[in-house]
Amino acid sequence: MSGMNTVVLSRAEEYDFAAIKSILAMHFEKIGVDAEFFAGKKVAIKPNLVMKKEPEAAATTHPVVLDALLSLLADMGVTPVIAESPGGVYTQARMEGIYKVCGITAVAEKYGDILNKDISWKHMHAENALVCHEFDIITPLYEADVIIDLCKLKSHSLTKMSAAVKNFYGSVPGITKFEMHAAFPENERFIGMICDLCKMLCEKKEIIAVTDAIIGMEGNGPTGGEPRKIGCILTSRNPFASDLLAEKILGFEGTVPMVREAAKRGYMPSTAAELDIIGESPKELIVKDFAEPDSTKGGGSMLVHFTSGKWGEIFAPKPKINLSVCRGCGECAASCPQHTIEMRKNKNGKKYAHIIRKKCIRCFCCQELCPFVAIGTKKNVLLNVISAFK
Ligand code: SF4
Ligand code: SF4
Repeated sequence: MSGMNTVVLSRAEEYDFAAIKSILAMHFEKIGVDAEFFAGKKVAIKPNLVMKKEPEAAATTHPVVLDALLSLLADMGVTPVIAESPGGVYTQARMEGIYKVCGITAVAEKYGDILNKDISWKHMHAENALVCHEFDIITPLYEADVIIDLCKLKSHSLTKMSAAVKNFYGSVPGITKFEMHAAFPENERFIGMICDLCKMLCEKKEIIAVTDAIIGMEGNGPTGGEPRKIGCILTSRNPFASDLLAEKILGFEGTVPMVREAAKRGYMPSTAAELDIIGESPKELIVKDFAEPDSTKGGGSMLVHFTSGKWGEIFAPKPKINLSVCRGCGECAASCPQHTIEMRKNKNGKKYAHIIRKKCIRCFCCQELCPFVAIGTKKNVLLNVISAFK
């Protein structure tokens, strides 16, 4: 019988529809999810479609995993809605573009009219939250009885790792996410807020977390890193437990601030060894030298203590615009919660982005949403020295 500390783990070498469908069928059986479980319930799938990126970039949930899941659900008589809200404006036209480029439209069309077109949202109150009690949630997820959290395993410049828990930040509509970054500028409080959001959804909905970790992203994720084979799929009824195992598989054990915060709160055990793991042994799947983001290298967990107030201004890594790559598109300026990016022109009339440092809260939204990977990370000299000795 599966419990809230159960995670099912399977090796998955490539994006092969039949193999993935059979893995997901086994995972669902192990966690006690079948046609009877879904009967009479509204089901929503929440993929990670952070921005317009082709599947090969490994920034978004791979369409073959979605296809396998939809096929399995169809066999159980379930017709879900697929709903997501990436950063930036939340409009139907923008969503259509993202669904198309990410390869989602072509897959979804095989199963009917299941792509969400409703761009409204509703309010939810988190009774048991520790940091943030009020959330706006996109309507299809608000209305769902069951949410399938179909995330991608990636590195992340702000949170070090993005997987099942962080994926729920996409349940907050468009630019409201930027407002929340501004409302919770300290890394610790931002992480606490995401834990509150995920916990609230776990308390009000049935959650099934499925992590696409076949090919993930390493380095400057969630959008500017490099694809890296990880070779597995994880499924759990508890996104916090799933991320605890994901942390171990990436070789980040004990160092992902959001996972540590959730463990401290008792949402799952502190170590992966305490999980009830069904399937493959995680030891066989740990990725060697998985590259963490530049922003967290050399003392990532220590950085959490240095990201607020004066210490933050001195020590915390900051976004840095690579002027030779910047095309002056303005996406970063539009996505900055602090409105601290100016679009300027050089003497040849070429537009470029310029960050006014004083108001920057180092949320890395600009880096995440730059379509041309033109925003890197500037680190404090002292931290670079620490990195070298690590
Ligand atoms: S989003 Fe990237 S390319 Fe566009 S202006 Fe900003 S830094 Fe330049
Ligand atoms: S400049 Fe970038 S990192 Fe700084 S507040 Fe704006 S979006 Fe966040």
